[in-house]
Amino acid sequence: MEEIKKKDIRALTREQLREFFVSNGDKAFRGNQVYEWLWQKAAYSFDVMTNLSKETREMLEANFVINHIKVDQMQRSSDGTIKNAVRLHDDLIVESVLIPTKSRTTACVSSQVGCSLDCRFCATARLKRMRNLNPDEIYDQVVAIDNESRLYFDRPLSNIVFMGMGEPLMNYNNVLKAIDKITSSDGLGMSPKRITVSTSGVPKLIRKMADDEVKFKLAVSLHSAVDEIRTSIMPFNAKFTLSDLRESLQYWYQKTKSRITYEYVVWEGINDTQKDVDALVEFCRFAPSKVNLIEYNPIDDGEFKQASNAAIDRYVNSLERNKITVTVRRSRGKDIDAACGQLANKS
Ligand code: SF4
Repeated sequence: MEEIKKKDIRALTREQLREFFVSNGDKAFRGNQVYEWLWQKAAYSFDVMTNLSKETREMLEANFVINHIKVDQMQRSSDGTIKNAVRLHDDLIVESVLIPTKSRTTACVSSQVGCSLDCRFCATARLKRMRNLNPDEIYDQVVAIDNESRLYFDRPLSNIVFMGMGEPLMNYNNVLKAIDKITSSDGLGMSPKRITVSTSGVPKLIRKMADDEVKFKLAVSLHSAVDEIRTSIMPFNAKFTLSDLRESLQYWYQKTKSRITYEYVVWEGINDTQKDVDALVEFCRFAPSKVNLIEYNPIDDGEFKQASNAAIDRYVNSLERNKITVTVRRSRGKDIDAACGQLANKS
């Protein structure tokens, strides 16, 4: 007999769950109880829902599945960084990372299996984009890291960055649904101010975020403010040019008044001249900006090399002189390939 494909129960809204119970001759509030188990308590199975009768749990089991992620492998770096290889219900794997500092723990989560884009310096780009993650698969990565943070660092997770595998804006609806759950009192109740969505810059969707009045922070992986150079390292820039990107960011700032962060790696022989620095300063002028200069983690072929300290200093001095906030971020978790741009399911 052909097995009936059960529906993922977490695709249902609270209202739909309430209706399900009513249509099965039960009380609507039962839907609230189940909803609480699924999200606030992040239940892995119907068995743990102990305030439901055995019959109710069996009825749920007969109708639904909980497509929960499974942390297949956890690696710990010598600097405390943790990388999870996360198995999805269809056996695809993504990675997420916990980055601890003295005062905070940050989860870096994935939004797609592989990536829709093709940045030449990025290990994830070498994986084919297989599919978008569902909201619950993003949510589960955060819950797993929150648990690890409590277990190993004795404190809850404090921040989230969408900087793992995938371009989050290419999975816009699911990323927003996941953030909605993460920030809602029905879910983890985290402040949206502690969440940063990092995009390589899709102008149409940056405008949409502004129109949707999102409350989380925005970071843009810029890496060059010169079209020709940016296109050579991030080929999609030929379609989404810097002037389009800049216009969309201007729109974002007008609507949200929220400062823009630029992620920026300086590579030897690619973007390490004074001309590159001047272009970045010029690009940042239209709105309050912060530039994170990120240390580069080479991927196998070594085509991209971290620029010299002198080149980094040139950036820092010019940005500071022009009153643009700048930080130099050391990379974390390099020994386990958990650093920025290194996520490629190698473990
Ligand atoms: S850097 Fe980000 S957007 Fe670019 S290919 Fe890698 S994962 Fe995708």
